[in-house]
Amino acid sequence: MEVISRFAPSPTGLLHIGGVRTALFAWLYAKSRGGKCFLRFEDTDIKRSEQKYMDSILHDFDWLNITFDGKPFYQSQNRSNHLNAIKQLLEDGKAYYCNCSSERLEELRSKQIEEGLKPKYDNKCRSLDLDDSPDSVIRFKNPESNSIQFNDLIRGSIEISNEELDDLVLLRNDGSPTYNLSVVVDDVEMSITHIIRGDDHISNTPRQINIFKALGKQVPEYGHVPMILDESGKRLSKREGAEGTEVYKEMGILPEALLNYLARLGWSLGDEEFFTIEDLVKVFKEGRLNNSPSSFSTDKLKWYNKEYLSRMKEQEILEKLSKLSKNFSKKDEFSIKALRLIKDRCSTLNEYIDHSSYLFGDLQSYDPEECKNVFTVESIEVLKILISKLKDLNLWSEDQILKVIEQVKSEKQIGMKEIGQPFRLAITGRLNAPPLDKISIVLGRERVTGRIDKVIKEFS
Ligand code: GLU
Repeated sequence: MEVISRFAPSPTGLLHIGGVRTALFAWLYAKSRGGKCFLRFEDTDIKRSEQKYMDSILHDFDWLNITFDGKPFYQSQNRSNHLNAIKQLLEDGKAYYCNCSSERLEELRSKQIEEGLKPKYDNKCRSLDLDDSPDSVIRFKNPESNSIQFNDLIRGSIEISNEELDDLVLLRNDGSPTYNLSVVVDDVEMSITHIIRGDDHISNTPRQINIFKALGKQVPEYGHVPMILDESGKRLSKREGAEGTEVYKEMGILPEALLNYLARLGWSLGDEEFFTIEDLVKVFKEGRLNNSPSSFSTDKLKWYNKEYLSRMKEQEILEKLSKLSKNFSKKDEFSIKALRLIKDRCSTLNEYIDHSSYLFGDLQSYDPEECKNVFTVESIEVLKILISKLKDLNLWSEDQILKVIEQVKSEKQIGMKEIGQPFRLAITGRLNAPPLDKISIVLGRERVTGRIDKVIKEFS
């Protein structure tokens, strides 16, 4: 039997990290078994669904290089099938009209809560055999006895008694089909065999299984993916993970690193950390899906990203950087030198751009606070001696520059910090940068001495 899965976002917001991971697992589950995975937009909540969210979800998967089979399916376009299924359930005696007023339902609910019971419809209209009326809804006749048992692909065997479920509404009094009914009818329509989704839907699963059965359809397999939490064990916040996927693109994260990290967040195969998407398709079914929540860490994601960057050819990195900043060009010798100088310090494409800014053009500005602390009367004296020696050098080489630093240290009887800090701040505008001899070579004598001169003039 061919495995057919789906990812079914409601386009009411941006695609966040949890959604990407659910989609990835649904996709890998099918692809690793030679199957198909479809994308379905659950766009029936007209008030909250927006085209811009559908566009951004498509855009995100495009960037991630995750391709779904066929064209996206739109739940709103399957409405006639939703209505037909409700009609069939009515005809088969598996659904009924209910005209309970909202006041009655509210009263019932409050009473149940007061008595410490779980609120649930009391099936008042179930046996009344009512006809349609302007205010009535259609409810599902949920089985009253027995239980629903299913073998969750991630959580193992789950059993829920039918007594816990009530007769849910299938059709609202405004004529719109409800969520649980629409999902089941769409899954039937799309011949879905495996539903891999977030575990926030686990309470819907027994209800949906009952609807599948009532419609006489094959019940699919289910796998509920646990939540992703932040590092402190709370639900993902706006700051980490809960924002749109776009944020990671803007941070300079590579899509392959993001996918690798998300796959490992909740799935493992031995101790191996690195899997390309092609590897994952091959080995996903041999690995283990974890049934407890995982923690998302931006630092860990950056760690993966750094590794992916380090495996990339210099030309490939330059190509990506040249699209983000006009400083870099893949044909230019200086870009290669800049790249090699800062490589070890960069985990994202944006960090490459940030850490290299002082290498291109003029140094724009210094932090006034740092200047106040570093460019003191004493350190300006140190810079004066340093610059005269640098200007006198016959050969502009790493060795010679290091020698000059040593000479200044011993002449002035100072430690490395006393020369290193003003030297580094003068030529880079920052205190955290690669070794001075290496930066000086990449910048060249003229720019190094020019920047030191400027500082001496300004702070003397
Ligand atoms: N539309 C639901 C959501 O975005 C998913 C429903 C499902 O996967 O069955 O959470």
